[in-house]
Amino acid sequence: MHVPLLLTDFLDRAVALYGDKEAIIGTDEVMTYRKLQDRVHQLSHGLTSLGIEKGDKVAYLAPNTSEMLEGFYGVMQTGAIMTPLNTRLKARDYRFILEHSESKALFVDDSLYHLVEEVIHDLSLLEHVYVHGNSSKEQPSYEQWLSSFPTHPFQREDLKESDIASLLYTSGTTGNPKGVLLSHRANYLHAMSAMHHLQVTDKDTLLHVLPMFHVNGWGSPFYYTANGAAQVMLHKTDPYLILDKIQKHKVTILHMAPTVLNMVMEAYEEIKPDIPQDVRVVIAGSAPPAAFVRKVEEEMGWKFIQVYGMTEISPLITISEPRSEEEGLSREEQYLQKAKAGYPMIGSRVKVVDELGDEVAHDGKSIGEIITRTNNMMEGYYKNPEATNETIRDGWLFTGDMAVVDEAGFIEIVDRRKDVIISGGENISSIEVEGTLYEHPSILEAAVVAVPSEKWGEAPHAVVVLREGETIGEEEIITYCRSKLAHFKSPRSVTFMEELPKTASGKIQKVVLRKPFWEKEEKHVN
Ligand code: ATP
Ligand code: MG
Repeated sequence: MHVPLLLTDFLDRAVALYGDKEAIIGTDEVMTYRKLQDRVHQLSHGLTSLGIEKGDKVAYLAPNTSEMLEGFYGVMQTGAIMTPLNTRLKARDYRFILEHSESKALFVDDSLYHLVEEVIHDLSLLEHVYVHGNSSKEQPSYEQWLSSFPTHPFQREDLKESDIASLLYTSGTTGNPKGVLLSHRANYLHAMSAMHHLQVTDKDTLLHVLPMFHVNGWGSPFYYTANGAAQVMLHKTDPYLILDKIQKHKVTILHMAPTVLNMVMEAYEEIKPDIPQDVRVVIAGSAPPAAFVRKVEEEMGWKFIQVYGMTEISPLITISEPRSEEEGLSREEQYLQKAKAGYPMIGSRVKVVDELGDEVAHDGKSIGEIITRTNNMMEGYYKNPEATNETIRDGWLFTGDMAVVDEAGFIEIVDRRKDVIISGGENISSIEVEGTLYEHPSILEAAVVAVPSEKWGEAPHAVVVLREGETIGEEEIITYCRSKLAHFKSPRSVTFMEELPKTASGKIQKVVLRKPFWEKEEKHVN
């Protein structure tokens, strides 16, 4: 008989094979997989006692903690839907998501309770709120509540792989977050593909840098659990803390945004601890330039892999790891390959198509939109059939990301459709211009956005963060870009900031940067 693909299988396997291994390393506590599963069963019994039923949403507001991880399995095991909340939102956004998702319960970390305190009082929807950590709040303490339930296995026979396991809200990089419904099956097959490509084993120790409430961090506990890897929690994205944890726990594998990796490398430069020897690979998205890949590999000695994905596909569909036929490439050529999003992972079909839906030539220059048909696909946007029908057409999901494909079949992201700068009829990739800026020794971070131009429609504008102690000005930056890039691609103007606005997963929010320039409306997108 067909065995349903349920996410709790991964924890069952971890307990059977690696039950007594120290697996979850939190801020103060260390837990085995067996202990984790005991707590997961307690949580499932507890949720059931609250009247949580199959299909109900259970919201979590927490940094990366062991309680958050047990929430993953404890909630899903009951057939309820895990709904993690971004920790960087405002009260208004929490109200929106809690109402929109119709969450029946909320588990919140003590350190974040103040963010939702008012909303909890107002919302009659929310029947149950529990606080993780030592709390003196009016809400019941999670530990006390949890300990009142038995650890014996929680059984639910009627779960199907098509049941929804998670409701994840997108990063909101380009607008309001959308609720993405992902089934057990989608998450499961994504995990199977990722564990194959990343070769995860019980010898691995993962540091959870990416927030688990976000899809990039969300998917990883499944494949690290299934293979008995140790998982170290990181409750705040602090580069010094990251370096410290890497050293202390002999971390072997890291997933993080290039912006965070950049901060870690800066911190390393400053304090120069011993180079962490055990890291075997660091995985990142967001199309970093080849110069960045070189720095990671040569200065840190860490192997770099780029991946590409989005919440709607739970999340990864391409990976840049070179095949053996690329081993003959020079180092520089390999870095250029790794600066690309790569080729499709197992379980995903990926095409780059023009406006008529025809695949673009694999010549490294014909631009099209990435579309995918994948095992990892969402069921749709929650309560938003229009957006779902716009995004999934004839079984293909339209990503809104523009790319080229080279002769070897490697996909390279050119830009988000919304971020392409259209100047005098030419399409300019903001990523390409940013790549040039990042090569300048005085520049720490850069973002290039479209601003209105009477003459050209739009013009590229650079927002730059300088390295400490650097003083270069606008003219110098423009001249530098013109020496490296076609004139029309070079920024016409530059502003400086102390720090770029970022989403909680570390992505630069270009909407925020564009806003002051487009007073009446957001940049027009076809
Ligand atoms: P929203 O959809 O709410 O505006 P978002 O698209 O940033 O937010 P996510 O699903 O977290 O939300 O991010 C997916 C997007 O991140 C992709 O569509 C793509 O634009 C970008 N991205 C992911 N991986 C890469 C990569 N390797 N290179 C370039 N861009 C990437
Ligand atoms: Mg998106």
